[in-house]
Amino acid sequence: MTYVVAEPCIGVKDHACVDVCPVECFYEGEDILLIHPEECIDCGACVPECPVNAIFEESDVPEQWKDYTAKNADPFKGDSNLPKSPTREKWEAERAQEGSAANLYYQKYTPKT
Ligand code: SF4
Ligand code: SF4
Repeated sequence: MTYVVAEPCIGVKDHACVDVCPVECFYEGEDILLIHPEECIDCGACVPECPVNAIFEESDVPEQWKDYTAKNADPFKGDSNLPKSPTREKWEAERAQEGSAANLYYQKYTPKT
């Protein structure tokens, strides 16, 4: 079992979940953060931290976002080389820097907050 990040993360991606994960299993996806399904220890600590309720236990992912289970897991098949997610503080600092990955993210994905 694992936890899964779903659609509400798009345009938010505030990295609040990263700060509380005891095994650092959040990685940078294109539009959302991704949870490595084999590294997640199912502690649930990230769930209350998410301001938009984007994180679900795998068996509890709402019907309309069921495809996000594979979306989280597939990038880790084979030789995945996704970067680990930075802490919220680092992400916020990067966001202020023109042309950085975080800055470009909010140009591409309209901020929801
Ligand atoms: S459930 Fe726990 S281990 Fe899994 S991503 Fe959330 S904080 Fe990390
Ligand atoms: S706390 Fe929620 S919205 Fe923020 S990055 Fe994590 S999953 Fe995305």
